[in-house]
Amino acid sequence: HILVEQTDPELFAAIQAENARQEHHIELIASENYASPAVMAAQGSQLTNKYAEGYPGRRYYGGCEHVDVAEQLAIDRVKQIFGAEAANVQPHCGASANEAVFLAFLKPGDTIMGMSLAEGGHLTHGMALNMSGKWFNVVSYGLNDKEEIDYDAMERKAHETRPKLIIAGASAYALRIDFERFAKVARDVGAIFMVDMAHYAGLIAAGIYPNPVPHADVVTSTTHKSLRGPRGGIILMKAAHEKAINSAIFPGLQGGPLMHVIAAKAVAFKEALAPEFKAYQQQVLKNAQIVAETLTQRGLRIVSGRTESHVMLVDLRAKGITGKEAEAVLGDAHMTINKNAIPNDPEKPMVTSGVRIGTPAMTTRGFKDEEARLTANLIADVLDNPRDAANIAAVREKVNALTSRFPVYR
Ligand code: PLP
Repeated sequence: HILVEQTDPELFAAIQAENARQEHHIELIASENYASPAVMAAQGSQLTNKYAEGYPGRRYYGGCEHVDVAEQLAIDRVKQIFGAEAANVQPHCGASANEAVFLAFLKPGDTIMGMSLAEGGHLTHGMALNMSGKWFNVVSYGLNDKEEIDYDAMERKAHETRPKLIIAGASAYALRIDFERFAKVARDVGAIFMVDMAHYAGLIAAGIYPNPVPHADVVTSTTHKSLRGPRGGIILMKAAHEKAINSAIFPGLQGGPLMHVIAAKAVAFKEALAPEFKAYQQQVLKNAQIVAETLTQRGLRIVSGRTESHVMLVDLRAKGITGKEAEAVLGDAHMTINKNAIPNDPEKPMVTSGVRIGTPAMTTRGFKDEEARLTANLIADVLDNPRDAANIAAVREKVNALTSRFPVYR
């Protein structure tokens, strides 16, 4: 940091301000977390300087003997965590992991099936403006009237449309996903079964959310959400798909792997194998349940009525406030959140009637039952009276008192 300050004071000021924001705000964005200092140190290491096109032991550059060790550690550890036959740790992000799967198995014009963005899916699962939506014929599935994945409709659609690839996984879905059911449907229609477990990866690593690896041909993930690693992606697969996936990542889609990020992934995977990680994830789940119950008691509706993971969608309509406004006023009160469409949302995507709340970050900083309950009550306090500046200021003070008791990076 001293070096950044000397070389680039302007940038240093932005970093310092962001550090302060991360310390003082309660981070409620479900896809964010605080990576450990060891993860960040590996990511800030000299491995950033190294070109290593290829894979361990088979590189197109000299001098790769040490980065080979780093990549092999990451591969071995992530296979161990999830019980995978093979792994690729080179995807630069979750989106490129998904694109690599498409490149490995599909041709433009092929039919794919994924969860619709409006009902909880991700952009890369077939949204019209994403490459997945532009290059493929997309069939979507969604939720039933209980706001649970409509497995029967998904199965019917799969038989009608015969997709070449079926994607399970979501960015805003709170319940357990029945991967076994998806796998059976995929088998019945002859589709490749891909799971994007980006959101749930940490819970799955700890054994408290269903593991898709035994059921899926390929499983993609980010490493920076509940898994609490550096920003990046991974692909786990059956050994039979390893060659196709590896050549889709390189040379298909990417050039040189980010060896410093891969090293940081190795550190994060080691952390995920430690017993403390399981206790952490159990608290993530408990905190989410406490937040959901408390918000319900305070008159808000949780989409699908409950959460079985780290995330929940909150329907704000009872409070007469949109997601856009809630995001802004909660931000003023030092709680960072993102607006999110709820199923059948009457508002536009940039406005929405909901917010998405996740507990991985608050749990990393040490929040347990009592602090999770307090956080939910502070959210409700803001939403009960969102246009009263004195109310927002009073909540902000309580948030600041709470966050100062739980520093993230000491
Ligand atoms: N898949 C899912 C389910 C996600 O929620 C996200 C990110 O929000 C991604 C993929 C994309 O990851 P990235 O932002 O690293 O490209």
